[in-house]
Amino acid sequence: MSHDDIIRRSAAAQAAALGTGEISSEELTRAHLDRIAAVDGELNAFLHVNEDEALTTSRDVDARRAAGDQLHPLAGVPIAVKDVVVTEGQPTTAGSRILEGWIPPYDATLVTRLRAAGLPILGKTNLDEFAMGSSTENSAFGPTRNPWDTGRIPGGSGGGSAAAVGSYEAPLAIGTDTGGSIRQPGAVTGTVGVKPTYGSVSRYGLIAMASSLDQAGPVTRTVEDAALLHELIAGHDPLDSTSLPDPVGAYAEAARSRDVRGLRIGVIEELEGEGFAPEVRARFTESLDHLERAGAEIVRVSCPNFRYALGAYYLIMPSEASSNLAKFDGMRFGLRVVPEDSPTAESVMKATRGAGFGDEVKRRILLGTYALSAGYFDAYYGSAQKVRTLVQRDFTAAFDSVDVLASPTSPTVAFRLGEKVDDPMAMYLNDIATIPANLAGTPGISVPSGLAEDGLPAGIQFLAPIRADERLYRVGGALEALLEDAWGGPLLAKAPELATIAQGAK
Ligand code: GLN
Repeated sequence: MSHDDIIRRSAAAQAAALGTGEISSEELTRAHLDRIAAVDGELNAFLHVNEDEALTTSRDVDARRAAGDQLHPLAGVPIAVKDVVVTEGQPTTAGSRILEGWIPPYDATLVTRLRAAGLPILGKTNLDEFAMGSSTENSAFGPTRNPWDTGRIPGGSGGGSAAAVGSYEAPLAIGTDTGGSIRQPGAVTGTVGVKPTYGSVSRYGLIAMASSLDQAGPVTRTVEDAALLHELIAGHDPLDSTSLPDPVGAYAEAARSRDVRGLRIGVIEELEGEGFAPEVRARFTESLDHLERAGAEIVRVSCPNFRYALGAYYLIMPSEASSNLAKFDGMRFGLRVVPEDSPTAESVMKATRGAGFGDEVKRRILLGTYALSAGYFDAYYGSAQKVRTLVQRDFTAAFDSVDVLASPTSPTVAFRLGEKVDDPMAMYLNDIATIPANLAGTPGISVPSGLAEDGLPAGIQFLAPIRADERLYRVGGALEALLEDAWGGPLLAKAPELATIAQGAK
């Protein structure tokens, strides 16, 4: 059997192959490790690969299956985890030099769930430092490259997870989304990304960027796979004070229903006009046409305060980050720089933070500290919080008349590495469509909408009311099926082959 074939299947199909005995988890895990060895030199999607641990888990699952144990449906299917999620005994850097060498003493709750279900963890994926960015170029360990074109960015901050899934290094991955870091990388790599309702996946063990906005979620190649992974990682966690008590929804069932008859889809007027690339808009409109023909009702809705969302986000997010990042002081975690001339506690903190944080992280700590300082607090942070309330009200009003909202996920296809790295404002503008959902806590999904400028993938985003995540799977699964019928297969099948390094040569 060709392993090249099996790693290209969806996670659900890989799980089925494990169930029928077509392949063992050890073989499946090894096939993915081989793929990583062959292509990751070029992509840099992984910061850390843990071959031994992944293989040990896979053998354990194989033994349990042979013994007739009742296994989780995804047991034995490998997964990659964004390196901002802590893993006991495994390096966790958040893409920062300041955490280099730190080994967490505990697992994040979602990692505990992955382990309990028997998913071999292949390793930790690259990201913009502390998840701040839209291109993965802010990683202290070099950028990740887009599998569609290695001269381009894979999105960010979770570019590593998206590139790993898009290049068949992993069938599943975990991302985190504070302002779009799951959905935007999904859009520019032709993969699926879901930001669940705030509070539905535990934040315990996520290295916090902005606690009121952060949410972990699935990065996959199909909508059904995202649903299966979402069901596994969601659910109440007493270790996270903002965790919702709700039962987990039937997401996979919704993903398979493919029925959008009567579904009211609202096109957000503020998020589809100029500023969005022509072909990205064309793919968006075609996607809506498909859904309309399948029985959905398309209406236009206005969310007038969304135009202020980006500005509010870039005050709230740095404010929370400046406070969350205060703990990285050279005393407790990772890097410690001791100046020879004056080794006082204060000078060690200063030198460690100076050497350990990159430019973007420093920029945001400065912004956040300024916005929170006495005298400016009301003008900046206070005003931003008021805008946040107005954005939430726009959502509430819109969901009075529609079931889901839609927009292109990202204004453009993947841009070139280096193109925006010296222009923070241009980089921030990438998040224009994804940020409102984080401010309001609403769930969102990005699904491939087709090929746009330069033959590169674009994404369509659907947003649902808080706690109505299953609607995302219903509409996302239906659109995916309609588009794949039209394309004659998955969009990723159109990606060019990556140059591989012959086995043993690395
Ligand atoms: N690109 C956004 C930012 O830089 C979002 C990051 C994220 O979602 N982690 O803040």
